[in-house]
Amino acid sequence: MDEQLYAIPVNDAFNEDSECPVCSMYASLEKNAIEFTMGPSYMEDDVRMETNETGFCAKHVEMMYGNQNRLGLGLMLHTHMQNLIKETEKAQKKGRSSGGGLFKKNTDGSAVSAYMRQLGKSCYICDRITRIFDRYIDTIFYLYEKDSAFKTKFDSSKGFCVDHYAVLYDAADAHMSGGALKDFTAKLDKLFLENMKRVCDDVEWYTDKFDYRNVDAPWKNSKDALVRAIKKLDSIELQL
Ligand SMILES: [Zn+2]
Ligand SMILES: [Zn+2]
Repeated sequence: MDEQLYAIPVNDAFNEDSECPVCSMYASLEKNAIEFTMGPSYMEDDVRMETNETGFCAKHVEMMYGNQNRLGLGLMLHTHMQNLIKETEKAQKKGRSSGGGLFKKNTDGSAVSAYMRQLGKSCYICDRITRIFDRYIDTIFYLYEKDSAFKTKFDSSKGFCVDHYAVLYDAADAHMSGGALKDFTAKLDKLFLENMKRVCDDVEWYTDKFDYRNVDAPWKNSKDALVRAIKKLDSIELQL
């Protein structure tokens, strides 16, 4: 059962001291996906068939470039570009007329535009992460209802980033109903807002520390306030 299979990584993420445990789950999946793709698997036909079609988003191609397997990246980009050239030639032959009326200008619906837009959005690493990430989210709800130790961990977490608050808020609808959904929503709302206020106060003290009158005042919890605020707002992990 998926929920039991994924209980360990989900628990690991909630055991971390983090401003968003869901970000931690995502980050470990992202790391695994990059390592998988940069490992021997990029020579496997089924992987290459997918990477040839989808390519990579800006964030993930940058991470892959940083992985140092430049030969692997070169081979993948080479066959992806060959595929892109072939598909572009096909799309260009269709011209601007495809799908549009006889007298209607049709730029939105042209095959070139549709292909380029789709390519801009597709990424092998993103797809690979999403497939498992959705199961991780299911597992959070499974554990929340079945495992009281996990529920305690969830309830005493430091809340979530903006994006993952929305993910959990929406997913709750598919996993719960009635009183359970109402209780969970109240808990989630409170966790998000209380912890957003806590980090907001930390950022305030961080800015107050620039006042010469506060030079000798203690940092309290604010030394890494910007890093934690950016995690809450934008789901990224910057270095202090
Ligand atoms: Zn997050
Ligand atoms: Zn991506």
